[in-house]
Amino acid sequence: MVARTIPVQPFDLVVFGATGDLARRKLLPGLYHRLQAGQMPEDARIFGAARSELDDEGYRAMAREALESFVTKDDRTPELVETFLNMLHYVAVDASSDEGWSTLAERLGPADDGRVRAFYLSVAPRFFGAIADRLAGSGVITPDSRIVVEKPLGRDQESAHALNERLSTHFTEAQIYRIDHYLGKETVQNLMAIRFANALFEPLWNARHIDHVQITVAESIGVEGRGSYYDQSGAMRDMVQNHMMQLLCLTAMEPPAHFDPDAVRDEKLKVIRALSPMSPTDVARKTVRGQYRAGTGGASYLEDAEDADSATESYVALRAEIANWRWSGTPFYLRTGKRLRTRMSEIAVFFKDPPHSIFTDQVSSLHGNALIIRLQPDEGITLRMTIKDPGPGGMRLTEVPLDMTFADAMGAKNGTKVRMPDAYERLIMDVIRGNQTLFMRGDEVEAAWAWTDPIIAAWGASGEKPQPYDSGSSGPEDALMLLHRDGRRWREIAS
Ligand code: NAD
Repeated sequence: MVARTIPVQPFDLVVFGATGDLARRKLLPGLYHRLQAGQMPEDARIFGAARSELDDEGYRAMAREALESFVTKDDRTPELVETFLNMLHYVAVDASSDEGWSTLAERLGPADDGRVRAFYLSVAPRFFGAIADRLAGSGVITPDSRIVVEKPLGRDQESAHALNERLSTHFTEAQIYRIDHYLGKETVQNLMAIRFANALFEPLWNARHIDHVQITVAESIGVEGRGSYYDQSGAMRDMVQNHMMQLLCLTAMEPPAHFDPDAVRDEKLKVIRALSPMSPTDVARKTVRGQYRAGTGGASYLEDAEDADSATESYVALRAEIANWRWSGTPFYLRTGKRLRTRMSEIAVFFKDPPHSIFTDQVSSLHGNALIIRLQPDEGITLRMTIKDPGPGGMRLTEVPLDMTFADAMGAKNGTKVRMPDAYERLIMDVIRGNQTLFMRGDEVEAAWAWTDPIIAAWGASGEKPQPYDSGSSGPEDALMLLHRDGRRWREIAS
């Protein structure tokens, strides 16, 4: 099955950090796939910009290697690869000096009426402000320009605010695209479709019918080569403040009046603002920090981070409460960690038990309905139902999953397999189209920090170290207790 695509208008995309990991692994392959899908016109121009002294041919050679590594052989045809490489250009620029900027302006040429210019900052965040300033200084920002930035967007509310201010000196909010690639995932958007395009769930989507929600982002890898960056960040800043908060918002938000960017983002912002703030006592009771030690999953965090005394958390579990009419009384449990048993991300919505059971001898072993929205490894949705166990042995009940894996379900329609576009592909095309629905607004980012900052501060003030957990396990003991205390338990971390 070929996904329906609407071609975008010709555009110029400048990728800063074009020789880096993200550009080679995600951006170039993603753009190639959009060309393949007929969405990207052949007269679009992609400019790689980085410090290395390369020319167009040198960059094309690097891009060819990236495609060979990150696009499957079946998807690579020699003609299409050549067409794509011919769309690539390269300019050597240094974010921290004047070098290369006039060449970039020359090569982009005069502003062409209505042609979108997108500047994708795939570089370390310390360069965001300098690049925005130099873009302005070299006169390449047109009314149809956009700037794209990705986490980390600050390390607290104050620095996020300063970044917003700096970007807004040169770009309007409508020109700033803050990527959270979780929002580009098919399942995450499906969460909105499931909630707002079906009458089935929304009447039950509240504290009267939902017992609790669990949001899990488990990684099996450790901090790998990013030890020094991660040690300054930790799981709260790296995962909770952005990706997990966005998942929580989409799960908990009110139905927006329209599916338009500001209507959706207004509703998400209201959720963040309704999160009950945590006092130091709350932090002690409702949050758990962990740090992996050597185990079946690999070496210890302290070895990876190369700081034998590090108190940075590689795991967080917490109980968030949303103080509004819809959710008062329904906790949202969040957990994320590195070097856990397996890689798995999901949102699990647990419904309450039926108000009265006529199957009195059976209820103890059965659970209520649950809707599981799986983000990885295989995006899909499962609804846990209770049915009668088949056979003549009387009225015995059993639980079954109603399961839908998107790739299978969509491909099964005509027997062919469908390739699910990567989150970055969708998001880059949204940038070109000018659709900000799946991007974070500046006020959302700041509000999310306003909620996480006091938690991070309370951890620091406590002087306590994160609880160790074995690499390859499900996380620290205290995280289990967090739910046990409430008479609940986590879903298993399993693929
Ligand atoms: P990287 O270190 O692999 O690449 C950095 C790029 O920046 C290189 O092309 C380098 O030439 C360029 N660069 C460095 N100094 C420069 C300067 N002074 N002027 C101009 N260019 C300069 O980094 P990456 O992994 O590609 O990540 C880029 C950004 O994206 C980071 O902010 C990272 O946090 C973010 N990010 C990356 C990923 C990922 O999967 N790699 C995921 C999410 C977010």
